[in-house]
Amino acid sequence: MCGIVGYIGYREAYPIVINGLKRLEYRGYDSAGIALFDGEHLKVAKTKGKVVDLEDKVKRELTTDGHIALGHTRWATHGVPNDVNSHPHYSNSENLVIIHNGIIENYESLKKALKERGYTFKSDTDTEVLVNLIEDVMSKENLKLGKAVQVALNQVIGAYAIAVFDKNKPDEIIAARLGSPLAIGVGKDEFFIASDASPFLEFTKNAIYLEDEELAIIRLGRDVKIRKIKDDSMVDPYVQALQLNLEQIEKGGYEHFMLKEIYEQPSAILDTFRGRLLSNEAIIKMSGVEDNMKKFLNAERIIIVACGTSWHAGLVSEYIFEDLARIPVEVEYASEFRYRNPVITEKDIVIAISQSGETADTLAAIKLAKSKGAFVFGVCNVVGSSIARETHAGAYTHAGPEIGVASTKAFTTQITVLSLIALRLARAKGTISSSDFRHHLIELELIPDKVKKALESDSYVKTVADIYKTAKNCLYLGRGYNFPVALEGALKLKEISYIHAEGYPAAEMKHGPIALIDEQMPVIVIATKKGHYEKVVSNIQEIKSRKGKIIGVVTEGDTQVKDLADHVIEVPETLEALSPLLTTIPLQLLSYHIAVMLGKNVDQPRNLAKSVTVE
Ligand code: GLU
Repeated sequence: MCGIVGYIGYREAYPIVINGLKRLEYRGYDSAGIALFDGEHLKVAKTKGKVVDLEDKVKRELTTDGHIALGHTRWATHGVPNDVNSHPHYSNSENLVIIHNGIIENYESLKKALKERGYTFKSDTDTEVLVNLIEDVMSKENLKLGKAVQVALNQVIGAYAIAVFDKNKPDEIIAARLGSPLAIGVGKDEFFIASDASPFLEFTKNAIYLEDEELAIIRLGRDVKIRKIKDDSMVDPYVQALQLNLEQIEKGGYEHFMLKEIYEQPSAILDTFRGRLLSNEAIIKMSGVEDNMKKFLNAERIIIVACGTSWHAGLVSEYIFEDLARIPVEVEYASEFRYRNPVITEKDIVIAISQSGETADTLAAIKLAKSKGAFVFGVCNVVGSSIARETHAGAYTHAGPEIGVASTKAFTTQITVLSLIALRLARAKGTISSSDFRHHLIELELIPDKVKKALESDSYVKTVADIYKTAKNCLYLGRGYNFPVALEGALKLKEISYIHAEGYPAAEMKHGPIALIDEQMPVIVIATKKGHYEKVVSNIQEIKSRKGKIIGVVTEGDTQVKDLADHVIEVPETLEALSPLLTTIPLQLLSYHIAVMLGKNVDQPRNLAKSVTVE
């Protein structure tokens, strides 16, 4: 998530870091900050808002000379976006300063221990805990900065790209990564640090990309030294000569943000259950649910309000909540719900889902539900957004910024959060056995790797896309948990390729849409092994007898559908309740490739906006 830029060398650091932060703006962020060292004083300026707001603040508050600077664009995960929570963060002594991208999962227990040792905290962030942990290790064990960072990181669970500076050792910066990207630009008598190479491309084309669990000691007048954080072994730095241009770098080498975001799903899902799903202890920890457990357990009904893709994630979770937690669920379009005088009581829980947390209809639905006394729980991606503020409690999806207008990783991370909630409630209500519960947790933990596996179908999906790119209509069919996936698959195709598509429950086909089937009609059928498999196979037979073209999304190793379908795309096996997290992947890829082949503007499709703030 978000951006890091650092400089140490002989040039004026401020313009390099500010311009670098501007280059990283495409990553999405809510606040920005900078630490500057002028040879004597370490100074910090930070603000909620944009990099230009930071420039204004710096103009008012700081002098900008100096050859060392660390800059950050924050995309809040812990603590709302405000000036205090923005990075950089000082340690208590104000000798150290840190910038961090990622999430420190065990920050609460570390913070508690540090408080007992007399540390105080200004912000709500996990990051401020880390910088004080480093300071504590340094002073307790009398260690140099690099070593102290290493010892501290060995106590940390989570993901990070960090840069740390000590004003008493002003010739070095320590950088480290696990799970978040970090590149070091190597110039002559100067070094750059950044989330990707775009901030330093015009200064040097030589870069070291840190690998996970590596720590770099970047010292002026020396080569970069890299160590493994865990076992302290030295690593030979591999300096690459970059050949990328700016735009390629912003998109992480992908052609479009949408494709990048499709490929980010393994890590986005992992970030979403990180620190919440503890499979060894067989528990799910979500404070928004825990703090309101009584309300959840007394709820007579859950009403889900959402729009678009979030509505589809809500539909998937209807199956999970009812199946596992035995709570009746209704899923409503927020735009309809708000205007139809719905029956809501204090015994209802309303769950509002929105990626941006700003969707106007969903916000209005929340206000209506609150006015009728319901308890409202929000599921959104953007920390501190209107929906996060308007709801009584909630849980964030930690998908990171989503830039492509067509939602991809927001959908799968919403399903992840809603599954965690349903499982937690099922356990509390005793509607799931402990062994089943554990089984679900273990399977959920395997999902990121299985999504990676599902992504391996990409080149085959592209071949299929090439065959059907000129279709005028498309039908998507699924049953049970995968019916909403069919709806979502059809929506993706409509949104970015402008081909008319419809999603249907497979068995409903014979009540109407079957009339549309002929040799020209591609029908995408989700037919995974678990979940009404035999019934879906019968539906496939019905399509085949009417000469429709069948593209099956099947479980690895399937033979029955393979014999019937024109094409099959395999996804790994998982529990039925989790299968939407995998079956949706080839459908995202299919619409992406078709849209690219048709020359459409994939990231900004016509007539659509990323955050629908009007009704
Ligand atoms: N978890 C940190 C915070 O909330 C870092 C977020 C980021 O990656 O920007 O401040």
